[in-house]
Amino acid sequence: MPDRRSESRTHMQSDVLTTRERPFAVGVDVGGTKIVAGVVDVNGQVHSRIKLPTDTSKPEMTLRSIANAIEQAIQAGGASPSAIQGIGLGIPGQVDPQRGICLLSVNLNWHNVAVKDWLEQRFGLSCALENDVSAGALGEYRYGGAANADMVYLSLGTGIAARVIHEGRLYRGSHGLAGEIGHTIFVPGGPRCSCGGLGCLEALAGGPALARNAETRLQSGQTSCLQETFVRQGRLSAEQVFEAARLEDALALQVLEEAGMHLAYAINVLAMTFDPQEVVLGGGLALEEGPLTEVIRRGLHYWLEQTPILREILTPESLRLSALQRDAGILGAAALIHI
Ligand SMILES: [Zn+2]
Repeated sequence: MPDRRSESRTHMQSDVLTTRERPFAVGVDVGGTKIVAGVVDVNGQVHSRIKLPTDTSKPEMTLRSIANAIEQAIQAGGASPSAIQGIGLGIPGQVDPQRGICLLSVNLNWHNVAVKDWLEQRFGLSCALENDVSAGALGEYRYGGAANADMVYLSLGTGIAARVIHEGRLYRGSHGLAGEIGHTIFVPGGPRCSCGGLGCLEALAGGPALARNAETRLQSGQTSCLQETFVRQGRLSAEQVFEAARLEDALALQVLEEAGMHLAYAINVLAMTFDPQEVVLGGGLALEEGPLTEVIRRGLHYWLEQTPILREILTPESLRLSALQRDAGILGAAALIHI
């Protein structure tokens, strides 16, 4: 009978062989409007990218659109199915990664959907799922050059959420809600948030909040190059506000100034709470350096000046943008298999 030591060595060797023989993972970023899937190798190189619309009419239909995206990604990636180690999925909502169930996703119209079982039966490959922001943080850790770092990952998009990687592992908290700083009230009695609260960070600095803030300013008579678009469409998007800010539109710059100052304060609080080696910004609002990240950096500079202990934790260089850029969704999901 083998002793425990040789048993565990055999087990380790078989893990190494698995990675070597099956170097690919499929990463799937499941969004409320689109599903992006791709084949990724162990070095984080993306071999295919497939984008399909999400069918949210019924959970079964959503699972089928995910399966279609996976199938097409495998075909386009040119990897033999036997070289694929597993499928990782980033889901916008609350997930139980151990049971492979999505507990709740408002965007997908899902409630207790057994994603892992369904896909494992469909493809005969092991499947792992995670909340999309958690997947983004793990992807940054695995492929983004943050190895060995204690990292705070702050995702800026429609929603705002942070995740903490400590000693290479995602810190979940006792209810799986660690890092939900987007629903911390920054302005009591402020604008209503999707969670029902008033004045949450997300309701002040998330994508829809930027658009709404610009609309309110236009309605109160402020002038801006956004006026014409607003009259024509009856609404604005965060992208339009960003575009106007790049043209130095005063109204758009004020909107981003307000949001960026709140975000800088959030970074200050996250850094003081978790003492990370670095803070990484991810998400659709932080794909590149621009007017918003300029304000955030200026705000952080202010807090660094004001707070001696923060200076022991961060330098201006400790704040960086995600290295994964537009592939962050695919890579984050693939990291669930490769980590
Ligand atoms: Zn909220």
